[in-house]
Amino acid sequence: MTYVKVNIKLPHGEVDGNVGVPHEMIDTVSLVPGALELSDQVVALALKYAEEAGHEITCKKGCSICCRQLVPVSKPEAFFLLDLMRQRLPDDRRNMVLARMKAAADKISEAGIADRLKKVDLTIDDHQQVGNDYFKLGMPCPFLTDTGACGIHPARPTACREYNVVTPAELCDDPVGNHVNVALPALKMSLILAQVYAQETGTKAEVMPLVLAPAWAAENEDQRGPKVEAPELFGRFMGILGRAGAPPPSGHEAEK
Ligand code: SF4
Repeated sequence: MTYVKVNIKLPHGEVDGNVGVPHEMIDTVSLVPGALELSDQVVALALKYAEEAGHEITCKKGCSICCRQLVPVSKPEAFFLLDLMRQRLPDDRRNMVLARMKAAADKISEAGIADRLKKVDLTIDDHQQVGNDYFKLGMPCPFLTDTGACGIHPARPTACREYNVVTPAELCDDPVGNHVNVALPALKMSLILAQVYAQETGTKAEVMPLVLAPAWAAENEDQRGPKVEAPELFGRFMGILGRAGAPPPSGHEAEK
């Protein structure tokens, strides 16, 4: 493993640190652990910025209302979640999560939003509306435990890390009807990963709902993308990260 120095200038400050890059040929799935680390640093800057502006982060351990929202994940994250479930979840836990994902897929289909969800990508402007319809289904994330904790917390997707509420927590009961504000990070890492995957595979940059992602990945093992030298791929990932348009440093958002 080689540690590569990373410095990204963002509206909230600088991400400055080292990210481990393996000495081997890798595909975009191998970028995910480093992307999670960077996502945490980007989010930490957003939280600091929000707190300095007088906002309080109202998310508390055990509150899991937002874990009923549509969580967009990139294709590298979909494969990462599949590998995580296969390698790290005990059989009984994995079977339970798979059963919940199947039930969620059926519910999405019955509600008539499956086709719309398949079209949720970077260019579709009804992302917010389909997210609202998804939340109304009231489906807890399959990874949520009985105690309201995330069952994969250290490896949770970037979208989950980026959702930190600054309005009163009770408003989260209805993020559609209420005005829920979050400490908006300067970068959405799932979109960066979607773009690097698209670039490496010559496809369109897309995200998909978390509840459908592992099943999609299992059915599309041949779409992990080409393996290239790790420093080369990491360099291209950093190039996209550096060029990513940063949204305004504060804003309103009620979707993950
Ligand atoms: S992965 Fe974890 S944090 Fe994200 S929605 Fe599921 S339970 Fe919540």
